[in-house]
Amino acid sequence: MKGHNHIAFSLAAAAVVNTLIFDVTHLSMAGSPVNLALTEQLLPLASQTLTFTDLLYKSAFYGGIVLGSVAPDIDHPKSLISHLFPWASRIVTSFCKHRTLTHSLPGIVAATIFWGILLALGLGLFNATVFSLSAEMMHAAFLFYLATALGCLLHSFEDTMTFAGIPWLYPLSKRSQHFAFIRFRSGSLTEYAVVLFFIVLVGLGLLYHLFFV
Ligand SMILES: [Zn+2]
Repeated sequence: MKGHNHIAFSLAAAAVVNTLIFDVTHLSMAGSPVNLALTEQLLPLASQTLTFTDLLYKSAFYGGIVLGSVAPDIDHPKSLISHLFPWASRIVTSFCKHRTLTHSLPGIVAATIFWGILLALGLGLFNATVFSLSAEMMHAAFLFYLATALGCLLHSFEDTMTFAGIPWLYPLSKRSQHFAFIRFRSGSLTEYAVVLFFIVLVGLGLLYHLFFV
């Protein structure tokens, strides 16, 4: 799947996750990093006003989703993320074939742990040497981290819809998995139609949620 389609599909899926979390927790948005009530906060009909903390958490969540939704394609030299970080792409492509380790469940778990250590070290160093980040900023960083992992999982889910599929258990198994009910060629017109259909579906669902739930 193309990078921009990954971003569009993942953002729509993240809006659903966002809304479900709000429905389940009912926490005030400023009080919790997991409370991101898209329908009640971002649509024009919203009665509440956004605070700085709301915006911070929303930016962290959706920013993490965008990064995670393109990150696994660092294993392809012509991908969107490889154009942004060519040095990282050169390192990954030197030992990793496209749609193998960066797309599988063991690979995503390992990368998430590695990324977590990097982020924690970076934040710790920043806190110690530049200035101490507020509790909200640390929450936002943690939310960003969780969202990148979710974005990576969504990326592999989306690639599972393509003909090539994804070896979800690589390197334990090299067998690719596909969905039985939906398959298309990467970058094809069908791919765009599926992404558009999903966005419209989510949009209608969010509108229904706003007015009737
Ligand atoms: Zn991919």
